[in-house]
Amino acid sequence: MNLNLNIAPLETWVNLKKKPLVIAGPCSAETPEQLMATARGLQSLKVDIIRAGIWKPRTRPNSFEGAGEEGLKWLADVKKELNIPVGTEVANPEHIELALKHNIDVLWIGARTTVSPFAVQEMADALRGVKNVAVLVKNPTHPELNLWIGAFERLNQAGITNLGAIHRGFATYDKSKFRNQPVWQIPIELRRIAPQIPIICDPSHITGKRDLIFEISQKAMDLNFDGLMIETHITPDKAWSDADQQITPEKLGEILSELKIRVDSTSNQVFNDHLEDLRSKIDNIDRELVEILAQRMAVVEKIGEYKKENNITTFQVKRWDEIMKNRAELAKKMGLNPEFVTEIYKIIHEESIRKQTEIMKAVETKA
Ligand code: PEP
Ligand code: MN
Repeated sequence: MNLNLNIAPLETWVNLKKKPLVIAGPCSAETPEQLMATARGLQSLKVDIIRAGIWKPRTRPNSFEGAGEEGLKWLADVKKELNIPVGTEVANPEHIELALKHNIDVLWIGARTTVSPFAVQEMADALRGVKNVAVLVKNPTHPELNLWIGAFERLNQAGITNLGAIHRGFATYDKSKFRNQPVWQIPIELRRIAPQIPIICDPSHITGKRDLIFEISQKAMDLNFDGLMIETHITPDKAWSDADQQITPEKLGEILSELKIRVDSTSNQVFNDHLEDLRSKIDNIDRELVEILAQRMAVVEKIGEYKKENNITTFQVKRWDEIMKNRAELAKKMGLNPEFVTEIYKIIHEESIRKQTEIMKAVETKA
């Protein structure tokens, strides 16, 4: 895929105090006092951008749906008094117009909006020709990478280059651990195909629980994400939305100081040589792995031919059951996670069946 995106480096549109970029503030702006008190607590932590939701996309009606335009004034006051950039969520052209009128610096498109190409296109059109604004795009609620990428393309085609991605996890039926599953391979794949897009992790909406925020933030840092967006409230338990996941500015300070920020690369020659040595070991092992897979597949083909000659079905449940049990036990003995090995075998088995079905078909056409 050729992603022809023209994205400005993060440092060109935000005065980054230090890595990671930190966006913090309440889920919702509730009152001018609540917003200002929270923002003051964050100012001393050197937070880069203050966030607050003004229009809240609530799952069910009759919950707090945000302060609306009034709240934009409170956000503008925070910006003026504390001299910090501010950001809010926008979901339609009217929100954009109002946010720009109040000089909001950063707009983000929420997960429930990114899912709709119509809504994203309307907003891109409303942003055409707008300068000095940054737009962050939250991942769509379901794990469809192309929908996320499509939003960047629409905004970029409208001339917006100050762009960033927010990884906030994906809707899940099983909410026992996370409110939204992180599915890390999606932001990792985004990084691979569009390395120019800064990625900010939102551990608040991934976890839904304040106790897990540190763990997810650290993981995002270990994956070399560029920033964090963390919901922060002066009195979290009394928050009008997302109370369980909000933390005090003080707690945010603790989390930020405990995070281990690792670097992407180093000029330490001894380290680099050792890493290179280990990587070449991995390369050799991988070559052997692929060779062994090829050998296995050659035997699978032989079995396929043999089954064909004897008119036996490709899939035999008893044999498959045996393989699954035995390979999981083998994995356990070798100190590997049996689930990991079982998953690999499911893929290998699927490919074996595909190969043997091909062989069976070849018989039918020959006959
Ligand atoms: C939010 O940031 O408050 C929000 C509504 O997030 P999301 O779009 O990720 O649900
Ligand atoms: Mn929220």
